[in-house]
Amino acid sequence: MSWEVVIGLEVHVQVNTKTKAFCGCSTAFGAEPNTQTCPVCLGMPGQLPVLNMDAVTKTVLTGLAIDATINLESRFDRKNYFYPDLPKGYQISQFAIPLVEHGHLDIPVGGGEKRIGITRIHLEEDAGKSLHEGLEGVSHIDLNRSGIPLMEIVSEPDMRSADEAVAYLKQLHQLVRFLDVSDADMEKGQFRCDANVSVRRPGQPFGTRTELKNLNSFRFIKQAIEYEAMRQIELIEDGGKVVQETRLFDSTKGVTRSMRSKEEAHDYRYFPEPDLPPLRLEREQVEQIRRGMPELPAQMRRRFEQEYGLSSYDAEVLTQTRELAAWYESLAAAHPADPKRCANWLANELLGRLKESGRDIVDSPVSAQQLAGLLDRIADNTISGKIAKDVLDAMIESGEDADAIIEARGLKQVTDTTAIDDMIREVMAANPEQVAQYKAGKEKLFGFFVGQVMKASRGKANPAMVNERLKVLLRE
Ligand code: ADP
Ligand code: MG
Ligand code: ZN
Repeated sequence: MSWEVVIGLEVHVQVNTKTKAFCGCSTAFGAEPNTQTCPVCLGMPGQLPVLNMDAVTKTVLTGLAIDATINLESRFDRKNYFYPDLPKGYQISQFAIPLVEHGHLDIPVGGGEKRIGITRIHLEEDAGKSLHEGLEGVSHIDLNRSGIPLMEIVSEPDMRSADEAVAYLKQLHQLVRFLDVSDADMEKGQFRCDANVSVRRPGQPFGTRTELKNLNSFRFIKQAIEYEAMRQIELIEDGGKVVQETRLFDSTKGVTRSMRSKEEAHDYRYFPEPDLPPLRLEREQVEQIRRGMPELPAQMRRRFEQEYGLSSYDAEVLTQTRELAAWYESLAAAHPADPKRCANWLANELLGRLKESGRDIVDSPVSAQQLAGLLDRIADNTISGKIAKDVLDAMIESGEDADAIIEARGLKQVTDTTAIDDMIREVMAANPEQVAQYKAGKEKLFGFFVGQVMKASRGKANPAMVNERLKVLLRE
């Protein structure tokens, strides 16, 4: 009898506001420790929080993008616990009434789509950070992160494999970046995920779940869920019982380890935050936010297929980020004759070369206009596609235009029949045996002659013309 894995995800997404959730401190990443703090985010007594409305707007926008209900009245609560990086002794969060509820996200699975329920999105503040690295016998605390706004996005237990969980996370990651509500840089901790995992026999009620923490890359998330599901299955098959607990993923060993059991779990003693009034929004405010909704990834993919005639694969690749999609659209506007050629050269040639040196499209030394200039020279037969690849290499290296490189290196394609005929005759003179064999019926040798002529021209002869003239001259 088979087992079914059940997964629900809790994702913390850092909202990209300029200032913190309840004070005016900067949220900029990478500053000297404790330089972006004030009495409010340091937890000094008597200091009152003031809600950052940009964080509210961005959470509402995210809620609208997942077709959720926006609660026009929501509440803030105190989540109480002790930890050195939490100077107030509590986090301001939303417990009883979150800002966003009952949404969903459609994810790609095996050629089709699957709808994953999103229970809620609530707004809360981040804690500080304990620093241990390079220190002996002591830890340091950096409170720059204390008070930065987070959206906690809680899914229903709707995923049935590690791959579905990763597909959901990638979709969510792309969505918040398209909405420009988060930079969602996982390496900077701006998109963090906890995974709840249980197993059951299909058709049976849900099993006891464990919560996995410390999952800071898509690869680790997949590994951790797969390891944990196997551990639970083996445990149950050996007559044991899964206990509800929090487990930490150890990425060097690829295993999960118990961190704390249900009995040791925090009782947060939530209660309404007395320093903040209920958050009330007008219906019209929500409608105004809705009117500012940008084009979403799924819509953009469909438009790319229709407007540019791209395959669904190319449309998917080119809409990975808003920056890449915008780059493609500039390129297609500058070389309108062939949107598919634009897609190929951007996705395969330019992106491939940038990736080799760890760069992204936004770091490209070649502009969309410049790449269009290169594609124009392929279109008008000035150079072959093969030579164009060398020109692109040179463009990336020097930042120069295609025309300048073609001119300086004398790469113009030879389309002059006399010149091509001369080259063919030289090749024939140098290979009399092959000519005799070809004439005697060994037609396979045709490719050999094409190769030799192209080589003699150092790739510059127009291949279609070489083919055409060879057929004539070899028959003479
Ligand atoms: P808690 O309040 O303890 O965090 P929640 O009800 O908020 O519990 O659930 C947290 C997450 O756990 C949600 O993402 C939910 O989908 C998921 N979850 C709940 N039950 C299960 C289960 N049996 N198996 C897997 N995930 C589950
Ligand atoms: Mg929870
Ligand atoms: Zn502050």
